Amino acid sequence: MKIFCIGRNYADHAKELNNPVPVGDPVVFMKPNTALLVNNKPLYYPDYTENLHYEGEIVLRVCKNGRSVQPEFAARYYDAVAFGIDFTARDIQDRQKAKGLPWEIAKGFDRSAPLSKWIALEDINNPKNIHFQLKKNGEVVQDGHSENMLFPFDHLIVYLSKYFTLHKGDMIYTGTPAGVGPVQKGDVLEGFIEDRHLLTCAIK
Ligand code: ZN
Repeated sequence: MKIFCIGRNYADHAKELNNPVPVGDPVVFMKPNTALLVNNKPLYYPDYTENLHYEGEIVLRVCKNGRSVQPEFAARYYDAVAFGIDFTARDIQDRQKAKGLPWEIAKGFDRSAPLSKWIALEDINNPKNIHFQLKKNGEVVQDGHSENMLFPFDHLIVYLSKYFTLHKGDMIYTGTPAGVGPVQKGDVLEGFIEDRHLLTCAIK
């Protein structure tokens, strides 16, 4: 099972971090399966960062093996979405970026990828424009619509499958909208897709 992540897939978020909006191709990175955090378990604030950020994201589930998927067939390769958080040690990421080094230690550490249960796409009211929200301590801090993705689901399937054979069960964290920010011990994050409360993650 592979966990793909897409960076800078919403223009408003790329701008808030002063990153260029990607033109041409998506920004891709991966997390190991040891990053997954399921069943609403808490995240213990790691001692190697002082600037841990949440990034609320729609996660797409791959339902079919494939490589070099053509655009007209891309929609057959995913069948469900979940709410996920792409936890990021922003201080470490900034240091790595400044040195031109890979981000893995800032993005792929243990428990850095909380994941909710899956919702079948056929149970989503408007699968072309999924509404999702992240609340921190009860207050909405991120409010996104999937139609604002620079690279929509089909495009991601086509692009990723050019380089990586997709396997049933792989997942794609599809990027975060504006409103990312730090967490402290004691904070509680909650993820919603449409009106479904899907994820709770306490920071301990
Ligand atoms: Zn992210």
